[in-house]
Amino acid sequence: MDKLSQITTGKAKSLFSTAHPDQLIMEFRDDTSAFDGKKMEALDNKGNVNNQFNAFVMEFLATKGIETHFIELLSSNESLVKKLDMFPIECVVRNRATGSLCKRLGIEDGLILDPPLFEFFLKDDALGDPLINDHHIVSFGWASQEEADTMRELTLQANDILVNFFSEANLILVDYKLEFGMFQGKMLLADEFTPDGCRLWDKDTLAKMDKDRFRQDLGNVIETYSEVAERLGMQIKLD
Ligand code: 5GP
Repeated sequence: MDKLSQITTGKAKSLFSTAHPDQLIMEFRDDTSAFDGKKMEALDNKGNVNNQFNAFVMEFLATKGIETHFIELLSSNESLVKKLDMFPIECVVRNRATGSLCKRLGIEDGLILDPPLFEFFLKDDALGDPLINDHHIVSFGWASQEEADTMRELTLQANDILVNFFSEANLILVDYKLEFGMFQGKMLLADEFTPDGCRLWDKDTLAKMDKDRFRQDLGNVIETYSEVAERLGMQIKLD
């Protein structure tokens, strides 16, 4: 399948149309961004690592009953995906308090959250992705109540699966962000699941193994992503 024209380009990925009207090519670039695009850098091999990491997790989730937009890997940094109507919403689950939650509510960093905490955010960089709730979603027509309920249920269902998945690699799944869209009347998991959109801490040392290494200038970003991939049993191909 060849790329035809570029449909959108985000901070780290670009989407291209294909000869198939319902299928797109998602290209993972080396570009890395944080703080709603205020910090940007290209990191060698990030596109390759994240594309293959995402494929592995999406395929794993599909085997556990979470349907996704992922179809197949096309190259080291490109995947074929279904073309969805996306919700402008980010779904976040937190198993430990950190990041924006601690800033917003003055919660102690690292506090275990049981049950896990679910939050909706509006996907809008210009507004800094603000926290929203079901009422905002329904009143502004971003999704129906039923769709919001399904997004929450699927995100929490994925949490049960992924907490165990990462735990077996001696990692704590601290928090993560998912996005969803509709395909032929069905809600599918979209976008990506990579260390760019989640927080992973080593179980023994609590070392950060995710994009916080980039956000906080901790170094070895891609080496650490690769270590996570290796611990999960992935064999990442680099160009
Ligand atoms: P926080 O709300 O603490 O900034 O983020 C919570 C979790 O969601 C983190 O794992 C973070 O990586 C992820 N997340 C939230 N918003 C975004 C976003 O716009 N882009 C990416 N890549 N991840 C996000």
